[in-house]
Amino acid sequence: MAEDAIKTGTKLLDVANEIEQETENAGAALAFPANLSINDVAAHYSPAPDEETAFTENDLVKVDFGVHVNGCIIDQAFTVDLTGENNKLVEASEKALENAVATMKPGALNGEIGRIIQETIEGYGFKPIENLSGHRMEPFLLHAGENIPNTAGGDYELKEGDVFAVEPFATTGAGRVEERMTNKTQIYSLVNPKPVRLPQSRALLNWAVEERQSLPFSKRAVYPSVINSKPSLELALHDLLRQKILRDYPPLVEINNGLVSQAETTAIIESNGAKQLT
Ligand code: MN
Ligand code: MN
Repeated sequence: MAEDAIKTGTKLLDVANEIEQETENAGAALAFPANLSINDVAAHYSPAPDEETAFTENDLVKVDFGVHVNGCIIDQAFTVDLTGENNKLVEASEKALENAVATMKPGALNGEIGRIIQETIEGYGFKPIENLSGHRMEPFLLHAGENIPNTAGGDYELKEGDVFAVEPFATTGAGRVEERMTNKTQIYSLVNPKPVRLPQSRALLNWAVEERQSLPFSKRAVYPSVINSKPSLELALHDLLRQKILRDYPPLVEINNGLVSQAETTAIIESNGAKQLT
């Protein structure tokens, strides 16, 4: 549905809302807000509640979405190339994902899977993004500790029953991302709940404790339904960030502004290999 919805002229906000509404219609809940990250933005871009931005023919779009049922999470992503000129870059991350999943089984080392991702992407003439990685998940926990890196190195042995998101990123840039465009931050999660004094903060905190636990949420999820004034929302977010009750997720941008593609799936490790849950 998302793949069909992403077209030149379509608003990001409409696509994000559609992904999130469809998730709920299907009887699942959001594991995190829909991310729609364009070109050199690798991840963590989600439209603001009133954002008017539309996709253009110059966009390479990463769609990253997460759903959960009773806390069990699927984290999945793919790339839509509206330019029509980045087939190889898209193929590099897709092929890296395919090769990685084929290698995942009990006893396989995460660093070996990272090496396969790196070699596949480099084989296409691109670089993997070294400071983004796949991650083990547990119910209601998106990042449960161990990683699947996008480069060689790592000695965690995969175990039967582990659930991993695997997410190769390929770039024409240097192969690193950093937090930028912090004025565009839309995604937050609860890290350390404790009593607060400001009424606005209390309203937001109570909602997050009840509805999200540690799972990320967007401003769209709380405005206007939980806090119906933007200044109040900004005040509450600022207050909760300052007290380190919330953390924020600014957009992650490739350091040399290289184009970025991503492919991601969620798999459970079974005795004979990885079974994709997507
Ligand atoms: Mn993801
Ligand atoms: Mn992920």
